[in-house]
Amino acid sequence: MLEYRTAAVVLRTFDYGESDRLVHLYTEQIGRVTAIAKGARRSRRRFPGTLEIFSRLEVHLVDPPRAQLMRLEGAVLVEPGEGLVQQLGRFAIASQLLEMLDRLTAEGEANPELFRFSAGVLMVLCEERPDRLLALLVLLKTLARLGYRPQLVACARCGRSLPERDRVGFDVAQGGAVCPDCASGEAPAVPVWLLAGLEAGIRTPLRQRGELGIPDRAVGQAERLLSRFLQFHVGFELRTANFLSQIRDLECLDGAGVHGDTAPASGSVAAGASTSPAGRA
Ligand SMILES: [Zn+2]
Repeated sequence: MLEYRTAAVVLRTFDYGESDRLVHLYTEQIGRVTAIAKGARRSRRRFPGTLEIFSRLEVHLVDPPRAQLMRLEGAVLVEPGEGLVQQLGRFAIASQLLEMLDRLTAEGEANPELFRFSAGVLMVLCEERPDRLLALLVLLKTLARLGYRPQLVACARCGRSLPERDRVGFDVAQGGAVCPDCASGEAPAVPVWLLAGLEAGIRTPLRQRGELGIPDRAVGQAERLLSRFLQFHVGFELRTANFLSQIRDLECLDGAGVHGDTAPASGSVAAGASTSPAGRA
């Protein structure tokens, strides 16, 4: 019987039968798994406070021979997800991340780097103001780690560096930016500096996004670009994307960019946070 002890994030849970719960987890060691938490409905003491969305856990999983589901034997809470549920903007950005882990990764396919990145994002989200640039960069960085990295600094078709001009085409079918020779004419023109800013954004820690020089007015354009890119390459629209855009309309996500205040929303942020795995985010 295989057993695993690994860090995990709770993606979602469902009631199962009279006394159990089904738990979707994204784990560091074995990627996405569905496990049954026996007795979790009947007794709250069995998994106290752990099986909530966004919670980060240390879990003990067993994979019994011939069983269809893994069994969640035990779970210790590392970091509760409460702070992400209480604020709409944070909730929406975190939900989009979890939807990508849920729908764009294969069950049982390990990607420890993606796990650590995701855990780091959840930590950053607990501390930072949930502005639109943060939402955009979480989406872009996650896509890049999932293997859907748009070509932003060279021509996606011929590979040459983008010319020194103001705007170039962006052709989602080709994989990103296209030089004038390769542009089909239908590809919308995008400022080269914006593409360069997004490229830098993939490599820059989320907390330092204010230094990218991406102004608020350009964030909407980048959002539309990425949304089309994602739909083309992934083949569907994220359910949470609609939710995020409704929140944008309600202005629960603040504009940030170069003019925004990217200071933590609360003064109680641990000074050591930057040395945590969140540094990877
Ligand atoms: Zn080209």
